[in-house]
Amino acid sequence: MRARADPVRRRPIYPVPVAAPVFLPLPGTRPAQAPSATGDHGFPPRPAGDALVDRFGRVAADLRLSVTDRCNLRCTYCMPAEGVDWLARDDLLTAAELVRLAGVAVTALGVRHVRLTGGEPLLRRDLVDIVAGIAALQPRPRIAMTTNGLGLARSAADLAAAGLDRVNVSLDTLRPDTFRALARRDRLDQTLAGLAAAASAGLAPVKVNAVLMRGVNDEQAPELLRFCLAAGYELRFIEQMPLDAGHGWTRATMITAAEIHDRLSREFSLVADEEPRGSAPAERFAVRSVDGRLQGRVGIVASVTASFCGACDRTRLTADGQLRSCLFSHTETDLRAMLRSGVDDAEIAEAWRATMWAKPAGHGIDDEVGAGGGIASSGFVQPDRPMSAIGG
Ligand code: SAM
Repeated sequence: MRARADPVRRRPIYPVPVAAPVFLPLPGTRPAQAPSATGDHGFPPRPAGDALVDRFGRVAADLRLSVTDRCNLRCTYCMPAEGVDWLARDDLLTAAELVRLAGVAVTALGVRHVRLTGGEPLLRRDLVDIVAGIAALQPRPRIAMTTNGLGLARSAADLAAAGLDRVNVSLDTLRPDTFRALARRDRLDQTLAGLAAAASAGLAPVKVNAVLMRGVNDEQAPELLRFCLAAGYELRFIEQMPLDAGHGWTRATMITAAEIHDRLSREFSLVADEEPRGSAPAERFAVRSVDGRLQGRVGIVASVTASFCGACDRTRLTADGQLRSCLFSHTETDLRAMLRSGVDDAEIAEAWRATMWAKPAGHGIDDEVGAGGGIASSGFVQPDRPMSAIGG
């Protein structure tokens, strides 16, 4: 008889204290019905249908697919200098497994966007095969990648030919000394070369992700924006989230979206975009010169201070095949075990739907800020996996 994995087994992979779920009255969501502490069993029944719906009326159509947990930078807000314990090779999904799971998401569950991430996705030698496999799915999803750009100068053309549509390149500074301090590596030139290669390869739009750290690069926000406007890249500033491996994040030291807006407004005229934002995490602004000329756009992602959980359309798969309904989840569904025990796609799809049905209303990081700006007094508990092991 074929071995079967329990499709609703949801396990914390690390021994983390799990806080009682907090259900927030989010705008635009249906009223929450709190589940019992026993997990799925106390949830209201899931309506029939293929899509990845949750109890708050959200529908996930955007898959964040991590292809590796390894990275060749050590950004201070993400990883310690010595790195973290990497996943064992056998635990990583193979290219065929990644494409099969992406296929379940696209063909059975209504996923329309796949973003490759990590760790650093360019470290996967078989990345072109993974992209080509996903691009061959029907209906063909839009394929994006988040990368630090190292090595992109070599691979951008091949990735575009395989079906990659667009990239976000992480770039927090244009100054070599700040790059060294932040990423603990001396590789600014390679990131800039990667950016240029992405544009030349026709990947569009080319977006730039920047995280500002107080006293490190926060004063450099205007120069980053000037650079991106001149080059035709769309810049997004992302509030630093409590997803660092060292659990050292504090609300008090984080540069808030309001501060970023304020800092940019000293040099640019920012006009809030009139286009509806939908599920996009960034609030977008048209950047105009003093004489009113449109110079481009900039986005500010207020992940903490104005979270967009109520409009979240994401579902996440780690490089070792663990399904998460939220970046901040404390539980995961082991799709790798299911795959490797020989279950069929329909069973995987059903486990995926059950996991997303249990998605919490919101992360709650900014619910209640403790004395000194810490987060200990709110119901929020940082997940044990850092950003690099989840996939940003
Ligand atoms: N290695 C790739 C890169 O550098 O873009 C992809 C993975 S990285 C984890 C994805 C994104 O997450 C990057 O833009 C990075 O700046 C962002 N990131 C990492 N840690 C973060 C944190 N604690 N808060 C906010 N953004 C973070």
